[in-house]
Amino acid sequence: MTRKYNFSAGPAMLPQEVLEQAQSEMLDWNGSGMSVMEMSHRGKEYMSIAEQAEADLREVMAIPENYKVLFLQGGASQQFSAIPLNLLRGKDNADYVNTGAWSKKAIAEASRYCSANVVATSEDSNFTTIPEFSSWMLNPDAAYLHYTPNETIGGVEFNFVPESGDVPLVADMSSTILSRPIDVSKFGLIYAGAQKNIGPAGLTIVIVRDDLIGKAEKITPTLMNYEVQAKADSMYNTPPTYAWYLSGLVFQWLKKKGGLEAMAEINKRKAKKLYAAIDNSDFYKNPVDEPYRSWMNVPFTLANSELDGEFLEQAAARDLVTLKGHRSVGGMRASIYNAMPEAGVDALIEMMADFEKQYG
Ligand SMILES: *Cc1c(COP(=O)(O)O)cnc(C)c1O
Repeated sequence: MTRKYNFSAGPAMLPQEVLEQAQSEMLDWNGSGMSVMEMSHRGKEYMSIAEQAEADLREVMAIPENYKVLFLQGGASQQFSAIPLNLLRGKDNADYVNTGAWSKKAIAEASRYCSANVVATSEDSNFTTIPEFSSWMLNPDAAYLHYTPNETIGGVEFNFVPESGDVPLVADMSSTILSRPIDVSKFGLIYAGAQKNIGPAGLTIVIVRDDLIGKAEKITPTLMNYEVQAKADSMYNTPPTYAWYLSGLVFQWLKKKGGLEAMAEINKRKAKKLYAAIDNSDFYKNPVDEPYRSWMNVPFTLANSELDGEFLEQAAARDLVTLKGHRSVGGMRASIYNAMPEAGVDALIEMMADFEKQYG
């Protein structure tokens, strides 16, 4: 068996130790005589798995007590509508920052429910930077301020947390959650689809401050209502049980690895060496403004795009796969989340150098 270095943006690599543990528990979880997939979500075995996962996530992220952690379905994309429905609280507008493809989708969906005011945009730079905070046209009366800390497609990432004053700050952390420590208390709501840096697809995590819950619009579908889900411990209906369990194993893995401080150090080092390899060559290029380069998603182009196919083939021959860039950007993209071993990044850098020697 060969495990490849999979640079997919999502669903992405999972830690091998986690997969091995899941494998060893597949047929018989902890003497229960059944797999986690076959358990009632209301039984005591599964309840213990669910509770442990939440407790571990709270510990890893240092989530304050006045926040609920919800384990939902529908992906981050469903939150694009759940957020306005739950957080408008009678207001008719919210502030949005537009830094790329995922911001745009969030804005388009919110516009169905309110006026989603774009208070800052980096569209004129083709989303290769983050708009200077002092230029944001913030509305102090907005229902909330939404932004995307890491744009998965453009590979552009905030290196600061916006100051939103009394306006609740809402963050789509799908591709950056768990990559480093954050101060959860600065946010009204954090959400993330699991398939990038948490666990398998099918699970969406929402971390929401208590005072923002309970004022949903009347038309909010029951399953998207945070109050309903919080009261039901995310089990108003059958939750994505296996994805929740596997994410729990990832949280335990993170704890064993030294938590988010340790992850941040490794992630920073991985990103730094990959960007250095790009910058130190005349053959590869990354268009993003240096202070805002993503630690998680590293897009790059070749000097001659006609070599893209050959590059992908040579990479695949070394078990470096899913490097093709997003169709909207072209070129390559290496997604290097927590589960991508540093050796995978080293192998990519070596392959890039060899390729440049042949064709540069
Ligand atoms: C992947 C991604 C999404 C969409 O996630 P789904 O779970 O597929 O809905 C939204 N926002 C960001 C930043 C993403 O990376």
